[in-house]
Amino acid sequence: MNSKLREDLKDFDRILNETKNQGIEFLNNLENHPTSTRQSMQTDGELNEYGLGSLGALAEFKERLAPVMVASPGPRYLGFVTGGSTPASIVGDWLASVYDQNAQSIKAQGGATALIEMETINLLLQLLDLPQSFMGGFVTGATMSNFTSLGVARQWFGKQFGKDFAKNGISETINILTATPHSSSVKCLSMLGIGSQNYVTVKTIEGNREAIDMYDLEQNIKKLNGQPFVLISSAGTVNTADFDDFVAISKLREKYNFWWHIDGAFGGFAAVSDKYKHLVEGWEDADSITIDCHKWLNVPYESAFYLIKKDHINLQIETFQNSNAPYLGNPLENFNYLNVLPENSRRLRALPAWFSLKAYGKEGYRDIIEKSIALALHFGNALIEEENFELLAPINLNNVCFTLKGNHNQEKVNEFLVCLNDKGKVFMTPTVYQNRKGIRASFVNWRTTEDDIKIIIEELKETILDMEI
Ligand SMILES: *Cc1c(COP(=O)(O)O)cnc(C)c1O
Repeated sequence: MNSKLREDLKDFDRILNETKNQGIEFLNNLENHPTSTRQSMQTDGELNEYGLGSLGALAEFKERLAPVMVASPGPRYLGFVTGGSTPASIVGDWLASVYDQNAQSIKAQGGATALIEMETINLLLQLLDLPQSFMGGFVTGATMSNFTSLGVARQWFGKQFGKDFAKNGISETINILTATPHSSSVKCLSMLGIGSQNYVTVKTIEGNREAIDMYDLEQNIKKLNGQPFVLISSAGTVNTADFDDFVAISKLREKYNFWWHIDGAFGGFAAVSDKYKHLVEGWEDADSITIDCHKWLNVPYESAFYLIKKDHINLQIETFQNSNAPYLGNPLENFNYLNVLPENSRRLRALPAWFSLKAYGKEGYRDIIEKSIALALHFGNALIEEENFELLAPINLNNVCFTLKGNHNQEKVNEFLVCLNDKGKVFMTPTVYQNRKGIRASFVNWRTTEDDIKIIIEELKETILDMEI
C-alpha cells in the first residue's frame, strides 16, 4: 500500500472529524453564506506526483474551493427549484458513500441493497398516497426519470404495431401530445431518438394558465384517427405550478389508447397535504410518474425516482435489459435494477431519502410542503404592497413569478435581477411568461422562514434604489 494511503487509513478517525468540522462550519453559517460567488476560482490543474494525503487535500479545498461554494442549500436560494438537505438526508448521503454498495439485486447474496431501495419507494408511495400498483427506482434527477418513463413509453408504442423498437430501432412515427412540457422532457425526446421537435403542442386553458385545454387535447387525439399516442402531462409547471386535469385525462382512457406520463418533479408533493392533494386527484391512473427528491424532499443531489405501473415490467425490461445478462427467469423474482433503468452500477441513492422519511415522517413533510406554500403566498402579498413590483402569474403553489411594474421597465428586468443576485443575500432566476420578462422565486427549502421574506423584500427595495428605477 502506498504510504499516503497507509497514513490515511491510520488517520481515518481524525480525517473524518476534520471533514465533519468543515461541513458543520458551512451548514451552521448557511444564512450568512453568500448566495452567489463574487470571486472567481483560482484554478490549479497540476496533478501532484506524491499526493497531499486527505488532510492536505482538505486544506486545499478549504482555501481554494470552499470560497466559491454558494449557499444553494440555504433559505434564500430561490432560483430554479432548489431544495436543501435535511440533517437526516445528509446522514444517509454520507453513509451511502461510507458503505459504498452497488444497488442492483434483491438477492441477499452479494448484498440486498435493492430491498432498501424498494422499501424507500414504498415509503414514498405512502407519503404521496399512491397505490402499490406502481414500482419505482432511483435515478439522478427528474430528467433521467422522464427518460426512463418515456423510454418505456416508446417501447409500448412500438408494441401497438407489433414492433420491438428496443431491438430493432424506431420504425413508426411516435405520436407525442403535450401542452407545457418541461425542457427536460423535450431533451428526452431527443435522447430517445424520437426527435425534440416531434411533438404536438396542445393548447393551454385560456387566461393565466399552463394546463392542458381538454377540448383541444381531444381534437388533437381525433386527428390521429385511432392511432396510439403518448401524453406527457404536468403536475406542476415551473412558471405557475399549474396542474393538468388528471380526472378528465383518466376518463379519456376509456375511449383512447395512450401511454400517460406525468412529470410531477416538484408539484407531485402537493399530494402530501390535505389542502392541496386535490391538485393531483386522479394521477394514480397514469402509466408513469416522475418525482424529484433533491427538490421538495430536501435531500442532496442527485436524487429522483420514477414510478411505472407493475403491469409494464416486461416493456421496461425490454427497454433497459443489460444485453449480456443471463436468463432473467421471472423478472420480478430475479429482479435486478440494472435491467429496468439506464445505469448498471449505481450508488445506494435511496439512502438519503430513507433516512429523511424515517426521521421526519409524514407530518414533517406535510409541514415543509405547507410552510413553503404559505411562504410563497406571504412573499407574493408582501411584493404587491411595494409600488415597484407586480405579479406576472397567479401563485398556485410554491412558485412566485413577478416583474418590475409597468411595461416601460421590461428592458430593466434582467439587469435588475443581476444586481439583486450579485448582492449575495438572495438568488432568483429569470423567466419569460406570456411574452413578458420576469423573475421566478421558488419556495421548497425546509429552512426558509418569514424572517427571510423580510430580508428578501429589503433586498428588492435596495436594488430598486441602487438602480434608480
Ligand atoms: C426540475 C424539473 C425537471 C428536471 O429535473 P432535474 O432533477 O434537474 O433533472 C423536470 N421537470 C420538472 C417539472 C422540473 O421542475
